[in-house]
Amino acid sequence: MGSGGADGIPALWASSPVSDHARLNGGKDVRTRASALINGELKIDFGPDTLAQIQRCRLDPRDWRAILITHSHDDHLAPREFQYMYPPFVDSGTPVPPVYGGSTVIERIQAELEEGRRPSLYPLETGRTVRVCDYEVTPISAKHSDSEECFNFVIAREKTILYAVDTGYYEEPTWDALQRWKFDGIVIECTEGLNPTEYSGHLAAQDVRDVVGRLRQMGAASNSTVVCTSHHAHTGRATHGELQAFFEPHGITVGYDGLEIRL
Ligand SMILES: [Zn+2]
Ligand SMILES: [Zn+2]
Repeated sequence: MGSGGADGIPALWASSPVSDHARLNGGKDVRTRASALINGELKIDFGPDTLAQIQRCRLDPRDWRAILITHSHDDHLAPREFQYMYPPFVDSGTPVPPVYGGSTVIERIQAELEEGRRPSLYPLETGRTVRVCDYEVTPISAKHSDSEECFNFVIAREKTILYAVDTGYYEEPTWDALQRWKFDGIVIECTEGLNPTEYSGHLAAQDVRDVVGRLRQMGAASNSTVVCTSHHAHTGRATHGELQAFFEPHGITVGYDGLEIRL
C-alpha cells in the first residue's frame, strides 16, 4: 500500500533532488509511508498514511481481520488513528480487528488510548509462531533499534512470505532462524537506496542485493521467489527508475505505492 520511508517521498518538509523529481513528475516516485496488506485481510503496520492509502487503493478496513505492527516508530504506528474505530465515528458494535506487536508497541497504544477504546492487544515475541486468523506468523528479530525489539515477519498459509521492513543486515541468530523457510515472496526495505550511510539499522541497495543473495544461497529463496523493495527514502538519492536500473540484473522488483503482488 505504501513504499516510502519515515518522511515519505516527496519528503514532508525536505527539498532534495528525489523529492523535487517526485513533486514534478508524480507516478511511482510518490511514496507514502511503508505499509502492506495480505490477501485483503491481514494488515501490516498502521501508519499515518493509512487513510490516504485506503482511499487510493479503494480498500475497506472493515475487511481487515488482524493488524500486525513491526515496531513503534511513527511511520509504522499512528495509534490515535485507532480512535475512529469507535463511536461516535462508527455505530456501536462495529468489529475491531485485534492488534499484534512487541511490548513497546503495546505500551504505546495503551498510553495513547484508554481501555475500552482501543483494540485487543496481543504480544509477539521473537521466534514464537502465533496463529493469526488462518496464518502462521513468526516474528523474527530485525536489526533496527537499540531501544525496542523490532520485528520482521514470516507469514505462512499456502505461500510463505518474508516482510523485512525496517531492518539493517541481520545478526547471525536471525540468519540461523531463517534457514527453516523457503519464501515464495519477500518484501525488503531499501531506505538508503544508492546512498549508503554508516547507520546499521537500514539497508542500501547494495545491502538488499547482498541479503537477497545470501537468502538465495542458503535456499530460503530461489529464482522463482518474488522479491520486491519498499521503505524508500528521498535521502537514498535514487528515483524509481534509477533503482530499477540497479535491481533489474538481480531479479528484484522495485516497489511502489499500490503495487499488487500475486504469488
Ligand atoms: Zn520506517
Ligand atoms: Zn523504524
